Amino acid sequence: ATFGNLSDRLAETFKHLRTKGKLSASDVDGTVREIRRALLDADVSLDVVKQFTSTVRERALGDEVNKALNPAQQVVQIVNEELVAILGGQQRRLQFAKTAPTVIMLAGLQGAGKTTLAGKLAKHLVKEGHTPLLVASDLQRPNAVNQLQVVGSQAGVPVYAPEPGNGVGDPVKVAKDGVEQARRAQHDVVIIDTAGRLGVDAEMMKQAANIRKATNPDEVLFVIDAMIGQDAVATAKAFQEGVDFTGVVLSKLDGDARGGAALSVASVTGRPIIFASTGEGLDDFEPFHPDRMASRILDLGDILTLIEQAQQAFDEEEALKVAEKLAKEQFTLDDFLKQMQQLRGAGSIKKMLGMLPGAGGLRQQLDQFDEREIVRTEAIIQSMTPAERQNTKLLNGSRRLRIAKGSGMTVTDVNQLVQRFEQAAKMMKTVARGGVPQIPGMGPI
Ligand code: GDP
Repeated sequence: ATFGNLSDRLAETFKHLRTKGKLSASDVDGTVREIRRALLDADVSLDVVKQFTSTVRERALGDEVNKALNPAQQVVQIVNEELVAILGGQQRRLQFAKTAPTVIMLAGLQGAGKTTLAGKLAKHLVKEGHTPLLVASDLQRPNAVNQLQVVGSQAGVPVYAPEPGNGVGDPVKVAKDGVEQARRAQHDVVIIDTAGRLGVDAEMMKQAANIRKATNPDEVLFVIDAMIGQDAVATAKAFQEGVDFTGVVLSKLDGDARGGAALSVASVTGRPIIFASTGEGLDDFEPFHPDRMASRILDLGDILTLIEQAQQAFDEEEALKVAEKLAKEQFTLDDFLKQMQQLRGAGSIKKMLGMLPGAGGLRQQLDQFDEREIVRTEAIIQSMTPAERQNTKLLNGSRRLRIAKGSGMTVTDVNQLVQRFEQAAKMMKTVARGGVPQIPGMGPI
């Protein structure tokens, strides 16, 4: 799918970071270099890539990084915010005129998906309670008028089409008359489909500019095929100069485009992406949300929720105390138990890990992890005396047998727990010295 490869590459980049305890300048540079390569390979325009990576670098090295997050999370958060920014920041809704009808003109190359979009948009507007009229001003492409009539009838929306198309008729007059017709018949929105060419063409631009002048649209939507890759930026700039537009529609996002067009056009033209088209059917269409698209690209799941939960679970002061104990090798089974309970307080561990970026790769590990393990661990530790919890060296055979009986577990279970605790204590000593936190039995997150 679109962005699939980019997502994988970015996830790979972040995975490397996950093993780092602290971000050095060279870590940041390495990461930024990988991000840059991933974006270029996804056909994002060079100017956009340069701007993007330099901002990410600056922020990752800056003071305002969120110290509550681990290095991978910090970088993911910055990359996420910057992706949202180049995708236009806030969601931009369609703007309606104060006095009806609202005029929406569609522009773009032939095959971009304008006629299909006209039908999708009409259907969408009907659902929202509007009464759109479609106007067939693409008199160039044979069959365009007929195609608009087909999508119009599918959407249950009338089509104004006085000319047969096939290169005859005056598209500017049709557009003007169409708006007049909408006013007369009290349609509150008019959608004007215009002609495109296979490439950028002066005559086509002039015609589109004339339609714009004649109808004074509230919105001019530039429809661009996400599959055209590197050409997207040049095409968008040409349309901006020739006709200018108020918003962008990305079409064919369902294909296996590399996504560069999507990531470049808003930033290069300064015009927001308003809709995304994701298939040939009239329902394959959605309002565009920069934040959701960024999450999709980053495979974030719900990272913000995760971060919040993690912040709640690992109270900073508590963490410092534990780190101190660790450094002094005073980490006890009581601390171990407390940590496990905190993790549970953060919601199910599985759910939490499922929200980590790139959790796809963790799926297998997740499935092997059994939350009941925590319950069993609790039972065993609670069957120990305070002295035993302070010092596992006291745990001889008869004590272990007593604990096993008390907790309803086997001696093997008790042995395994003690062994895991001792491993964890050792691992956590590393943490205290600036290593990476680990959940016992889980490996690095
Ligand atoms: P126009 O020349 O700009 O009016 O483009 P059309 O609306 O005729 O679309 C060109 C082709 O692309 C048609 O075969 C459409 O079915 C197809 N198409 C349009 N939008 C999408 C989309 O979002 N996804 C896919 N897969 N195909 C699309």
